[in-house]
Amino acid sequence: MTEALSAEIDVLPEVRETLKRPQLLIIGDHEVAAHSGETFDTLNPSTGSLLARVAHADRDDVDDAVRIARAALEGSWRMVTASERGRLLNKLADLIDAQAGELAQLESLDNGTPVGVTRNGLLPGVAAHFRYFAGWADKIDGTTIDTGMPGMSVQLQREPVGVVAAIVPWNFPLTMATWKIAPALAAGCTVILKPAEQTPLTALALGRLALEAGIPPGVLQVLPGLGETAGAALVEHPGVDKIAFTGSVEVGQAISRVAVGTMKRVSLELGGKSPSIIMADADINLAIASAASGIFFNSGQVCSAGSRLLVQSSVFDDVINGIVGAAEQIRVGSAFDPATTMGPLISSEQVDRVSGYVELGRGDGGRVLTGGTATNPNGFYYQPTVVVDAPATSRIVREEIFGPVVVAQPFESIESLADKANDSPFGLAAAIFTRDARNSHHLSRILKAGSVWVNCYGYVHPAVPFGGFKMSGAGRDGGRESLDQYLETKAIWTNYAW
Ligand code: NAP
Ligand code: MG
Repeated sequence: MTEALSAEIDVLPEVRETLKRPQLLIIGDHEVAAHSGETFDTLNPSTGSLLARVAHADRDDVDDAVRIARAALEGSWRMVTASERGRLLNKLADLIDAQAGELAQLESLDNGTPVGVTRNGLLPGVAAHFRYFAGWADKIDGTTIDTGMPGMSVQLQREPVGVVAAIVPWNFPLTMATWKIAPALAAGCTVILKPAEQTPLTALALGRLALEAGIPPGVLQVLPGLGETAGAALVEHPGVDKIAFTGSVEVGQAISRVAVGTMKRVSLELGGKSPSIIMADADINLAIASAASGIFFNSGQVCSAGSRLLVQSSVFDDVINGIVGAAEQIRVGSAFDPATTMGPLISSEQVDRVSGYVELGRGDGGRVLTGGTATNPNGFYYQPTVVVDAPATSRIVREEIFGPVVVAQPFESIESLADKANDSPFGLAAAIFTRDARNSHHLSRILKAGSVWVNCYGYVHPAVPFGGFKMSGAGRDGGRESLDQYLETKAIWTNYAW
């Protein structure tokens, strides 16, 4: 624990205790240092100060974890009945609820999301996700197929895919981890979680809670480390059957290329450049409020952020004024200041990346109507930013920024809109604001996006699949579809007339 934390930030005694303990790998039921003895630092983005030094997993640690995960898969975890798996996941959800205050503080210290948002907006969803998949655990069944062949019975059996490596980003650390872990464990898989290097602390807390819940050792192990060490070792390891990844397109592509060597199953939740579409007939106040939260929530560090604003020309000025007004209402500050409505970015690198895009946009003729500046030299802060007049070819319009920057473009008619909205390599999400059901039905059919929100933005639910078309990924988190990604189908042919 650093002086900066004790001086500035009011956290629960349990959180101080957690930060005082060594942050070690969770392998089997042990907390261990890395074989190499190496550590890496995790910082508090609200202050830029050191939060903790964390054990840095590498190949030897991955070897240990994979061996133990496989032993659990074929031993202790296989012996647990399906309904007992469900009970254990529910128990874990209960522990998450019971410790939601501490977990939220730890998460917000590590990633900068305002602590009230983490506590009230995100932690309940984490517990709910475990409960939803707990319900699936004993409802995984097979079927029989009538082939018409005399004396032949064909039975389909669903089996866990095996040892899963879950590799997740820093924007919603617990949520992203849970979206992989809950369906994987419900399916009977074992999981090795590699959190993002910026946010390892709640992943470790979750690993400890899983053991406390009674989930057998080796079923959920946690290996903090860097992408190029722990991450790459997991992806290359022949004992890993599946990679469940959320992160950038570049890393998703690199993982897929390596995984094909052993035909590992791969599911990918990648980036986006999602449009918020505002028609002239929309409830303009609702549209402004929703589109603003669609881009500025979590400082824009959301894969499904509404980072492109497409507004019908006749209401363009009114909407843009409204969005600028909403941006200027936002109080940017520490995740632990109750007045804060938008926290810092995750890192100084992310501030540089966001500023770089805004400068590129300016260079291409974009006008910055508000924001466009990094503030507060101590933490990693960037003002909510609205850009107009950038040409459609500009990188600020085409590429994912992952920050609080929205680029707005006018459109004339619904006919010209669909091409514009789909003119992106990504296809994660889209929102449509209109009072006309014909518009919303028509557009929601032709938009190439995994989620379409009509007169709202950003809803997710454990029962609803979430994921991308096109470069935004492959596979879905949430719902039955997510569970299926952790199961193999075996066809058993029995000749009973020999
Ligand atoms: P990232 O750089 O792709 O990292 C994601 C994870 O992959 C981290 O744990 C990272 O480790 C690890 N990694 C990096 N290189 C690796 C390698 N060669 N092999 C194996 N693992 C490797 O993404 P990020 O910058 O943390 O997160 C932002 C991105 O995530 C954005 O593009 C965003 O759109 C996407 N995202 C998508 C969704 C979705 O559901 N579609 C949700 C949230 C975020 P390190 O931490 O050490 O780099
Ligand atoms: Mg951190």
